[in-house]
Amino acid sequence: MNKFPTIGILGGGQLAQMLALSGYPLGFRFIFFDPSADACAGLTGKLIVADYDNEVALDEFAQQCDYITYDFENVPVAAAEFVATRSKVFPHPNVLNIAQDRLKEKLLFSQQLDLPVANFEPVNSFSELMFAARSFDNNGFLKTRTMGYDGKGQYRVTPQADLKELWDKTGGGLFILEQAINFNREVSVILARNIEAEIICYELCENKHKQGILTTTMVPAKPSKHSATAFEYAKKIADKLNYVGVLTIEMFETDDGLLINEMAPRVHNSGHWTIEGAITSQFENHLRAGMGLPLGSHAMSKGYAAMINWIGKIPPVALSNKEQDIYWHIYGKQNRKGRKVGHTTVVADNAQKLHTKVVQLAKLLAAPTN
Ligand code: ADP
Ligand code: MG
Repeated sequence: MNKFPTIGILGGGQLAQMLALSGYPLGFRFIFFDPSADACAGLTGKLIVADYDNEVALDEFAQQCDYITYDFENVPVAAAEFVATRSKVFPHPNVLNIAQDRLKEKLLFSQQLDLPVANFEPVNSFSELMFAARSFDNNGFLKTRTMGYDGKGQYRVTPQADLKELWDKTGGGLFILEQAINFNREVSVILARNIEAEIICYELCENKHKQGILTTTMVPAKPSKHSATAFEYAKKIADKLNYVGVLTIEMFETDDGLLINEMAPRVHNSGHWTIEGAITSQFENHLRAGMGLPLGSHAMSKGYAAMINWIGKIPPVALSNKEQDIYWHIYGKQNRKGRKVGHTTVVADNAQKLHTKVVQLAKLLAAPTN
């Protein structure tokens, strides 16, 4: 009888869904674990609905898995450690422990690896906020140490902001205040590293965010004098963590160089373009890395790619057009303000064509559709 390896994913969002869609053609089976009954990965495999502290359910899940990975970094470390006693888990739960705490993450980059980051201060009280804000000319981002994503858990500190009001709004807790960076652009490196410490890096991604949420990614990022350094920094982090799987490093690029913003120990939204835009997608390479298979080529399929996120609402699927290399991905989630519900990838064989297609698409989207 054939043995199809079963991969368990802690977290059942769109990243888990796309991991499964990339893994089925290779003969893998998938099980998802998520506290929410309508987690969208459930559309693509068996979903166990339970809280992350439910050891009976975690045990039932882990018993069925040959390998386990995550679709987001805020899975409680205890849950990852628990299933690691019963199954192979990648990346190592220690990485989650760092990635889910902005202070630990920043200390890894700046102190252990001597890599540049925005100036930051831990803030655990209103007086610490006042002190830290003053040292950054009242221009910063107050971020919760844990559970932040898509700009959530962030508060903008400006010279005009009333700090007391802002602190009260947070409800207190553990934070870091980061100096606001006047960057030229944001870039990300997406790499896959396997058990033999081989690394492949996708082309550098150039990312635009609105209110902390990724809106578009263009690849390859226009070359700059800092591009090569971006890959060096990312590899250094992956090696230090003895990382296995896909790792994403977000960076700010300024005239003076790069600053590491954060890492995601998983496949990443700025890598969704790899499904059609690269020979091997980030999703497939994450699985290949964790399962000890040779990594697939990261080369671009046509040379250029763009990804546009659908936030809150999905434009009509009738606009998808494979002949034009315009691909739709709908995650099957309910529309909600600020929620990522799908994305589109556009690929082209030159930068000008890519630009024209993206502009055309933007025009179609602005036009009435019925
Ligand atoms: P999240 O985990 O929500 O993605 P980030 O730290 O990446 O948190 O912040 C989201 C976005 O907010 C960033 O991509 C960037 O556009 C903006 N941002 C965050 N920190 C800073 C900063 N120190 N200076 C300027 N912009 C920032
Ligand atoms: Mg980010």
